[in-house]
Amino acid sequence: MTPHEHPAHHPLADGFLMRRRYGNCIDGQEQAPRSEAWLPVVDPATGMHIADAPDSGAADVDAAVAAARRAFTDSAWTRLRPADREQMLYRLSQLIEEHGDELSAIETLQSGKLRSIARAVDVGGGAEFVRYMAGWATKLEGQTLQPSIGFPPGVQYHTWTRREAVGVVAAVVPWNFPLAIALWKVAPALAAGCTVVLKPSPETPLTALRLAELALAAGIPPGVLNVVCGAGATGAALCGHPGIDKISFTGSTATGKAIGRAATENMARVTLELGGKSPLIVLGDCDVERAAMGAAMGIFFHQGQVCTAGSRVYVQRRIFEPVVAALAQIAQGMKIGSGFDPETQIGPVVSSRHLDRVLGHLDRARAEGARVLTGGERSGTAGCFIAPTVLVDVHAGMQVVREEVFGPVVTAMPFDDVDEVVRLANDSPYGLAASVWSNDLSAVHRLIPRLQAGTVWVNCHNMLDNNLPLGGYKQSGVGRDLGRAAVEGCTELKSVCMAV
Ligand code: NAD
Repeated sequence: MTPHEHPAHHPLADGFLMRRRYGNCIDGQEQAPRSEAWLPVVDPATGMHIADAPDSGAADVDAAVAAARRAFTDSAWTRLRPADREQMLYRLSQLIEEHGDELSAIETLQSGKLRSIARAVDVGGGAEFVRYMAGWATKLEGQTLQPSIGFPPGVQYHTWTRREAVGVVAAVVPWNFPLAIALWKVAPALAAGCTVVLKPSPETPLTALRLAELALAAGIPPGVLNVVCGAGATGAALCGHPGIDKISFTGSTATGKAIGRAATENMARVTLELGGKSPLIVLGDCDVERAAMGAAMGIFFHQGQVCTAGSRVYVQRRIFEPVVAALAQIAQGMKIGSGFDPETQIGPVVSSRHLDRVLGHLDRARAEGARVLTGGERSGTAGCFIAPTVLVDVHAGMQVVREEVFGPVVTAMPFDDVDEVVRLANDSPYGLAASVWSNDLSAVHRLIPRLQAGTVWVNCHNMLDNNLPLGGYKQSGVGRDLGRAAVEGCTELKSVCMAV
């Protein structure tokens, strides 16, 4: 598809994109928003207006939460065996794969991301995660415990725990991996027997709406997965709704804090996956080319719009200059263009608003004294493209070193010894991830426990696994996505004590 062709003519869109105006999915039905308000969905590569999705109001949120509550308390869903939920989730994973070309085309259109990433990560990784979570539906378990209760004398006790579905889950997700992150929330909730109201980002609502249709086709009953579209106010109405038992959120730290406060009011459970400013640490023994390529992948993957992006690179002084020169050379050689072009390595950032935000960071960095080794500006005049950027002569106090830029922008700084790099790496309000590049096993093992990060990679970066929990230390969040932790996070732990 050429970037200027109308998406509705795309053969893969399977009719879905023929609809120019979408409704929410509530109780298994497409419903026009009661708010009668819509938001445009725009292709950031071309600026083309693709469609309109609801800007839902409180009445839409009420209807979706009510549908999810009915489905949780009084529907076929509650009577299903875990093996039935497993089968439905398995079928959903198959349908996501079967519709992979269509879903990835929609994802590239609405977010600008490379089609290859949409296909491999959002669709392929998402489907695999749903399959992984299908297996958990039948494997939730409690424990039998040894009690020491001594009263009344002579009475014996039998004690155990049970895991029970927490109830109605609000899933609020960002635009960087719209389908994958929606599935990170939806699949564990459904595996645990919960029902869901999903609110996608206003920039990228279309794959969530398509997902709701596929869930119905997989046999998941109406009302179990509802989608309400809208901007921050819709998310706030959902997260503050007294009918929500658990909020699973991925997004910025500022929004996460607001959601945390709203959750406390209703004592809703929370999982908050928030921002990051992850250090990528290259020790002096590392091969220069390998370090530079690792750093390039760590920051430029998906235009740096990745929560775990290695946006702060620290290189031991003796190899700093060659590593940074090689990193800049890789950045200069990257092909910028439409996500539909298979040659493209850097697509647009998600929106013109985000483009301005990232360019604002670059202006401030220059004003604070950072030196632009390469990039540092918009690429072209049409579309939301930013040249991959390497900044040097930076220090720990600069905004560009402290704040999440969420774009293809990396700062590089030298260090002399491990104590210094531990101090620099941990000098951040965030603690999502870090990576260490070295073959010195002892140095690596001594470094891992000293890094305040939810994930530490060694000789790789941004590698996620369905089985490996993902979450943050410090202001990068609360709780964990992926793995057993995600499905257990959608349960309450009930203790039972029986006198026998
Ligand atoms: P954002 O916080 O602006 O928005 C995220 C979602 O929250 C959107 O759906 C938005 O509409 C909604 N929202 C906004 N205000 C709200 C409010 N007051 N109450 C409820 N919902 C509200 O984030 P974004 O710009 O869409 O996404 C980028 C951010 O997401 C980055 O900070 C990135 O690091 C983070 N992220 C984190 C992870 C992780 O796993 N930790 C993964 C991906 C992205």
